[in-house]
Amino acid sequence: MYVHVPFCARRCSYCDFSIAVRRDVPADAFAASILQELTIRRAREHVEALDTLYFGGGTPSRLGGEGVKRLIGTITDVTAVAPGAEVTLEANPEDITPSSVRDWRDAGVTRLSVGIQSFDDAVLRWMHRVHDAEAAVRAVHTARDGGLTAFSVDLIFALPVSLERDWEADLDRALALDPEHVSLYGLTVEPHTPLGRWSARGEVAETPEERYEEEFLLAHQRLGDAGFEHYEVSNFARPGKRAVHNSAYWKGVPYFAVGPSAHGFDGIERRWNIAALAAWEAAVARGEDPIEGSETLTQENRIAESVYLGLRTVEGLVLLPNEQAFVASWGDAGWIEFVGDASSGRVRCTPLGWMRLDKLAADLTALRSHS
Ligand code: SF4
Repeated sequence: MYVHVPFCARRCSYCDFSIAVRRDVPADAFAASILQELTIRRAREHVEALDTLYFGGGTPSRLGGEGVKRLIGTITDVTAVAPGAEVTLEANPEDITPSSVRDWRDAGVTRLSVGIQSFDDAVLRWMHRVHDAEAAVRAVHTARDGGLTAFSVDLIFALPVSLERDWEADLDRALALDPEHVSLYGLTVEPHTPLGRWSARGEVAETPEERYEEEFLLAHQRLGDAGFEHYEVSNFARPGKRAVHNSAYWKGVPYFAVGPSAHGFDGIERRWNIAALAAWEAAVARGEDPIEGSETLTQENRIAESVYLGLRTVEGLVLLPNEQAFVASWGDAGWIEFVGDASSGRVRCTPLGWMRLDKLAADLTALRSHS
């Protein structure tokens, strides 16, 4: 189950997610609304015991120790959680304190995904992040000292050249924290964000593609040398420490999703909730399913998804007989490689291929859809 918690302390300069900026987070009211949504939807939808529970956002850690505890209690009162389930909380450094860590552990959180983004204070200010580098390091130690030892670090790469960010130094500082998982995101300029406006006014130049490639390949090398497996285009894990919840998305496993703007999938249909917090709250208060839209996957959608999902992970995908010749030039260019024996027909992207993932997936989908 995915639970979208929309609260943030302020909007980061690059972020166009559905968030609600609040100084004081109404944790009780939010938990009550989640309970209302669960009650309404469980009357018609079957929910199995959860293998994973993921709190994303927004900044779920803004709910604080007590708030997360109450929210998890609310969910587990009405939904069974499988023994040993992975329970992940996205957390920003400023919210990680000894008491919040204690409460999160008591509530059943097993893993933190820590939004660090960079260890360069000037860059963090430019991003409008609340924390500085020292706070990020302190937060990780606090989590570990409190017994939450499983954590992922999020970093953003491909920042504007003018920021003079030292990507290699940031990777090294992340590794020094000894995380078991690292997620990397290339910066994109979205129009309705402060960054989008700076860019439209010509105050920030777009990051050149070569820089994106250089930093992506450096991360692959550096994290690989440190023992991490680059198991998905944006994700690296120590052996046995892949993110179970996110891996389910990439395998096409059904997941239930609650909260404003949450997207779910039941194996046949994708659905998404009303995005604005107040409108979502009002819908569930009226006893209505807060759905905003849904889409049943067509045969073509299914093909596109299976190709895209296959190519984004190291598991890759099995080529159909007529596709081998089509992708031969991709192999020559070093964009794909066979997984194990070539006779298996299973290929996966190399890091060079992952930088062209959208194009490769689109071309293979077009071929597969018309054969
Ligand atoms: S903390 Fe995350 S969700 Fe909130 S504004 Fe920043 S990037 Fe967006």
